[in-house]
Amino acid sequence: MKCLNCDHDVAKLDNEHLIACSGLTLQEYAIRHCLPLELLVSTDQLNQRPQAADFISIATTPGEAARAVLEGLRLSGLLGSEGEFAVIPGGIRWLDLLLWDLNFLNEYGFRFCQDYEFDESTNRVVARNKLRSLRRNLLGRPRDAMTPVPPPDFATALAVCIGHCGEMQAGYLFIALTRRVDADEAVVWLEREHGVAMHCLSGDDEEPVLLRTRTTADSGRLLAALEPQLRPMPGVWDRFHASTPELTVAKELSFDSAHFITDHPAKCSNQHGGRYVLRVKVRGRIDPITGCVVDFGYLKKVVTREIVELFDHHHLNYVAGELAWRSTTEVMCVFIWQRLIEYLPALAELELYETPQSSCRYTGPSLAEFQASGGNSVLTWFQQETLGRSPWRSLLRPEAGESMRTVGRVRSARL
Ligand SMILES: [Zn+2]
Repeated sequence: MKCLNCDHDVAKLDNEHLIACSGLTLQEYAIRHCLPLELLVSTDQLNQRPQAADFISIATTPGEAARAVLEGLRLSGLLGSEGEFAVIPGGIRWLDLLLWDLNFLNEYGFRFCQDYEFDESTNRVVARNKLRSLRRNLLGRPRDAMTPVPPPDFATALAVCIGHCGEMQAGYLFIALTRRVDADEAVVWLEREHGVAMHCLSGDDEEPVLLRTRTTADSGRLLAALEPQLRPMPGVWDRFHASTPELTVAKELSFDSAHFITDHPAKCSNQHGGRYVLRVKVRGRIDPITGCVVDFGYLKKVVTREIVELFDHHHLNYVAGELAWRSTTEVMCVFIWQRLIEYLPALAELELYETPQSSCRYTGPSLAEFQASGGNSVLTWFQQETLGRSPWRSLLRPEAGESMRTVGRVRSARL
């Protein structure tokens, strides 16, 4: 077999040879040369179970930096377990960051592994990069109990977490944390130490907890505060300051709803139903690590939860006060925009089809404009405090109506 990197004949093309000849893993070699992994991975390499004997046991307490990196990975939900092993996964574009982690985590006995698995549902061989160690290396050791170890530096741990799971959208930084207690601690710490305001976008029962910087200025303060920790992490700083191509992605979802239009002169005043199609467009730069502007899965999840679940198989006039008076596509678009902009600050346009022939397109205020001005009054006429207090309403009351009519008559007489 000839190695396409070094042109040498080799008995076996594996990580041992490839890392020595080019620094690449077998998975990267497959991608560089556009080869299916099935051609490169031998059957004896597939679905191998790691052996505990191949991993070292750690008896000493890891240093401050190693503890902070492990804590950051725990915060981001990347620290997992497989039987007696602790594992940290890292996709193909995250390899250098995973190795940066390893540089600290070898104090816990972690090793780099590239596992090859035959996926029976797709008949494909897939490669998975992981750091792996014995779980018992991470647990408290008797020595720690005798001489308590202080918790690791929170700034470093949070920076590691953001470096691995942070997402930038339209200048707003999103962070997903696995546990609410950690999210609460991060919110308090960022506000207290750096004046960074975070907004929590998740409900109480949701995991992970999604946090977003309140404004783009908060993103700037956060990145400036954690720059010393974030900069050395491979690929991370570039991700948050990408100059990659900017483009628009769209997701289309549909829902079946009933409605009527009060006072409509024709048949729209009748109760009727149909299938609505909503196209949500988001504009931004390609994240160099994920290759996406925004994950379609996230887009679908947010639009489904905020809009489809609210409207589908419901009567639009009765699901929200804002739509009770007018459930036209135009008013619906303004309403939908306001429900989505907090989750999708890069929202570029909504297209809503009531029928294949009748549709509406709308671009609403940016998140900053929405925060400054609040909701649009077109939605809230019937919610406003002053409704029912105009002087004309006195005409509805028989006793006050009399005096009003008198005033009106006097004025008429003068004219
Ligand atoms: Zn080679």
